[in-house]
Amino acid sequence: MKFYSTRNTTFTVDMEEALLRSMPLDKGLYMPVRLPELGPDFFNRISDGSLAEIAYAISLELFGSEIPADRLKSLVDQAFPFDTPVVFLEDGKTAVLELFHGPSQAFKDVGARYMAAMMGYFLERSDREIHILVATSGDTGGAVAMGFLGVKGVKVTILYPSGRVSELQEKQLTTLGQNITALEVDGSFDDCQAMVKAAFADEDLNAAYNLASANSINIFRLIPQGFYYVRAFGQVKDCGKPVVFSTPSGNFGNLSAGVLVHRMGLPVQQFVAATNRNHVVPSYLSTGDFSPHPSISTISNAMDVGNPSNFVRLTHLFDEDYDRLTEQVTGYWFDDEATRNAMRQVYQQYGYVMCPHTAVGYLGLQSYQQQNPDTCGITLATAHPAKFKELVESVIEHPVDVPEALAVLMNREKQSIRIPANFEALKEYLMPATV
Ligand SMILES: *Cc1c(COP(=O)(O)O)cnc(C)c1O
Repeated sequence: MKFYSTRNTTFTVDMEEALLRSMPLDKGLYMPVRLPELGPDFFNRISDGSLAEIAYAISLELFGSEIPADRLKSLVDQAFPFDTPVVFLEDGKTAVLELFHGPSQAFKDVGARYMAAMMGYFLERSDREIHILVATSGDTGGAVAMGFLGVKGVKVTILYPSGRVSELQEKQLTTLGQNITALEVDGSFDDCQAMVKAAFADEDLNAAYNLASANSINIFRLIPQGFYYVRAFGQVKDCGKPVVFSTPSGNFGNLSAGVLVHRMGLPVQQFVAATNRNHVVPSYLSTGDFSPHPSISTISNAMDVGNPSNFVRLTHLFDEDYDRLTEQVTGYWFDDEATRNAMRQVYQQYGYVMCPHTAVGYLGLQSYQQQNPDTCGITLATAHPAKFKELVESVIEHPVDVPEALAVLMNREKQSIRIPANFEALKEYLMPATV
């Protein structure tokens, strides 16, 4: 499979280059030159499998000429030892796709672990060393830290906004050690993201290191996120109604991944883009005007993104045709009060606990289904509620069970390096002698 840059569609690279370099030097984003048309029959057939089986079937179509089939099989088995089950609430019709059964209890495990497995495959055959820089608004850090922990030839530096991630999220990315370092930035997630972007464009750093990204600007984090849309489809397809996905969105990697498998033939009627008050994309969908802004802090902090990095991919998936995009994707946004109310209502009515991000997705689906009742709606549950324990407990006024994997983190000691929110500080950390 070949990839082009969204800034220069005639510039193409192979799989290994897109995977290991993450981003073209022209600062565009890599996109597949041609998506295979696999068709609804293919997806109907494979969607009965486990997440790992679905991942294998699609990976073979996409990368079968670059990686031998038996290796692909073992790579996806290594990446996906967990499932992404659909759970129906007591009303019998609200389906929740639980994406938090991986090691960091958020959907980002899926992308991070697939990418780590693929990188491991290409690096084991060379003595190349990769330095991964990643900005996190909360959940990416933990998923990447755990996914890449101990991977040979990879060093990981995570940038996160000080005081703006939950305690458990912080523990996940600051307590592992080994090849993982956490930089605590005095600024916002947008600052962290801008610092990482500046590092990729910096000649000195690129000359000194093989820099790579584990953010969703790397297409190999995004592609695997399509697999669980297929897994979810398999679990609801007997309902006999058109399927609608509601994706709580920040950088729009997750939603783009759904559209990507849809373009290959997964039968989906509609995608709902649900955001918090950072509603650049819902506003664009209703007005045609794309106006990025500094991010606003909300209780769904992993979606506090004022300039979504995957927006351009979303437009490319519809060949930059605004009418086609708005036909297939509907946007809604909700403030913190509405989010809290939804968390409380779902808990009181169904005894089901949602994290604030999931609640935003739930609200988006409710809004869509009010207009389109004869549909089978699936809300993506992007994180385990225990990752936001204090907040969730204060909203539902009930204790939240903490899974063992999270509970053990509480006793570990945080280790981070605090830096100011500018690129020079990052560069000085990475190359102390030159600045
Ligand atoms: C990252 C994240 C999101 C946003 O996903 P994008 O792919 O950036 O749109 C939503 N919810 C949770 C819990 C997340 O960690």
